[in-house]
Amino acid sequence: AVAGELFLKSADLALYRAKSEGRGTYRFFEAEMDALHQARRNLEVALRVALDRGELELFYQPLVNTAHHEISGFEALLRWNHPQRGIVSPLEFIPVAEELGLIKNIGRWVLHQACAEAAGWPEAVKIAVNLSSIQFRNHDLVADVASALKTSGLAPDRLELEITESLLLQDNASVLATLHQLRKLGVSISMDDFGTGYSSLSYLQKFPFDKIKIDQSFIQRLAEQDSVSIVRAVISLGKSLGMSVLAEGVETAEQLKVLQAEGCWDIQGYLVSPPKPALDTMGLIDRYCVTTTA
Ligand code: C2E
Ligand code: MG
Ligand code: MG
Repeated sequence: AVAGELFLKSADLALYRAKSEGRGTYRFFEAEMDALHQARRNLEVALRVALDRGELELFYQPLVNTAHHEISGFEALLRWNHPQRGIVSPLEFIPVAEELGLIKNIGRWVLHQACAEAAGWPEAVKIAVNLSSIQFRNHDLVADVASALKTSGLAPDRLELEITESLLLQDNASVLATLHQLRKLGVSISMDDFGTGYSSLSYLQKFPFDKIKIDQSFIQRLAEQDSVSIVRAVISLGKSLGMSVLAEGVETAEQLKVLQAEGCWDIQGYLVSPPKPALDTMGLIDRYCVTTTA
């Protein structure tokens, strides 16, 4: 590790020198590549031990039914507390974990951790867990999900698995078979980031999803009429296919108003709450959940 740090320092130095000699030189390019390469290597080395060192943590963001002012569930969102860099975004380290083959262990940990946490919440509150398409390539996924449910004692109908359209790009029979096996366990399957994929509509025919999550890019542009039209179409599509529809990334009361006018009452976003540490979930539940027992 010490040698690695030294190497990174010299790469930084080379980059600094090359920059001071002016942009666009070959040396600049070479040095920058070195520094980038080394930064990436450092990330890889740190990520290999992150799980064992307890540096990974799940944050939870509420999914809210605005018609009933209820939290219907939380989405588990992974965070890495890097000792030097602070919190690293999953957008940055999950692709690296996938490439290094670490996502299998990390994904299993996420499933166990999220289910264990959710087991302490009121029964009406579900937990949504993101799955990487790489997790579908190993044959243990169904066993991992079953084991997370068993260990935690969480009822299967309280677990929602989120997958993205990229998973179905492969269009292979084994992915669909796995999805059906998961469904047989009693868990539900949501399509995440809907509308951003290459042929989103055709995926809805391949598998009967329980929920469609409209990608936040459409929600953020709800001030524009074409976005309203797209969102309206997705809502009606979901309704006629018997899938529930949730809007992701709702940030303003204005966006919520448009969504409700279109008949979409299920939302997630900073308007309600950003993702929060596990400690904060009970407080959020108390603030929102309408308890059925008087
Ligand atoms: P996602 O599953 O679509 O999760 C929603 C993302 O939108 C989260 O980013 C969340 O923090 C962010 N978000 C929520 N509300 C708002 C809002 O109002 N405005 C904006 N601008 N953003 C909002 P995050 O936590 O950085 O996660 C990014 C992606 O990383 C996730 O997208 C998911 O694809 C992936 N990810 C996170 N945790 C896991 C995990 O445990 N396993 C796997 N395989 N992927 C994960
Ligand atoms: Mg998600
Ligand atoms: Mg999403």
